[in-house]
Amino acid sequence: MTLSLAHILSARRTLRGVADATPFVPSPFMTKAAGQDFLLKLENMQPIGAFKLRGAMNAVMALPEGTAGVTCCSTGNHGRGVAYAAGLRGIRAVICMSELVPQAKVDGIRALGAEVRIKGRSQDEALAESLRLVKEDGLVEISPFDDPHVIAGQGTIGLEMLEARPDLHTILVPLSGGGLAAGVALAAKSINPDIRVIGVSMDRGAAMHLSIAAGHPVEVEEVASLADSLGGGIGMQNRLSFPLCRDLLDDTVLVTEDEIYHAMQVLFYEDRIVAEGACVVGLAAKLAGKVPAAEGPVGTIITGRNLDMTMFHDIMAGRDVQLGDVTVKGKPYGA
Ligand SMILES: *Cc1c(COP(=O)(O)O)cnc(C)c1O
Repeated sequence: MTLSLAHILSARRTLRGVADATPFVPSPFMTKAAGQDFLLKLENMQPIGAFKLRGAMNAVMALPEGTAGVTCCSTGNHGRGVAYAAGLRGIRAVICMSELVPQAKVDGIRALGAEVRIKGRSQDEALAESLRLVKEDGLVEISPFDDPHVIAGQGTIGLEMLEARPDLHTILVPLSGGGLAAGVALAAKSINPDIRVIGVSMDRGAAMHLSIAAGHPVEVEEVASLADSLGGGIGMQNRLSFPLCRDLLDDTVLVTEDEIYHAMQVLFYEDRIVAEGACVVGLAAKLAGKVPAAEGPVGTIITGRNLDMTMFHDIMAGRDVQLGDVTVKGKPYGA
């Protein structure tokens, strides 16, 4: 299947009334820092608190009549999207996650009525459990990123960004399995082939970045990160999101945990937005001088808000944060 703008336009019709257009607003602080209009696409305002509802909903609605149920592996937000969409269709959902997924995300999924399975310490182990359920219970697996309906659903974000600001010069996309980056880049470059799309990941376990560099999918060690939603591999059998990201992204850049920590403070103290570490990597990359200057407006996607509030309080207070065996040194904002 060759994905095109037509699939993204079709996804938008499917999503109408469930995952509608979100605001795309300038950040005055970031605009000053970037020397260009810097805009935030507020996907933290989706009903499940993350953009993943778009792809999940588009995939669940495409399933044939009589489908027994769905299953997926997830770092949390895709599972929440699938659970929500399955609830709207009235079918069973079993969400498989690793022990690295924060409790707040697990609780959110249970509250939507989905069944939850916690397996192992990696996305791969969660995926193995999901594939077992496909065999034994006849459920349909929905990949968090390597699925044409998921990619087309996420692509509707790119469509909205370019409709609101046809003059966008650069889009900074948080990058993990690459469903979001593939969809956004496909939409944006179909409308304006000259637009620059840059993927941003954390520097530990950046699966897509390393896979593009190697020319094929590679395995990464999964570690705890402030950007927990960006964890996990891209799948050694990746069919769609890897070639799309390889062909459509102009660059991929990496940010450190310290840079993510600081950018979370910036987004909260300057723009009063509560968001996950994964969402601020675009701001972090810009503030750290890791993306080249743009000759026009820059947009990034505030992908979700489903974070652990205790950790959020610690970061806003400038306290140290412990991530597995790594300590992110705290610093009060503005100090
Ligand atoms: C899933 C997710 C991403 C990354 O999306 P991919 O399609 O896996 O690259 C970014 N931010 C948040 C909050 C997410 O849940």
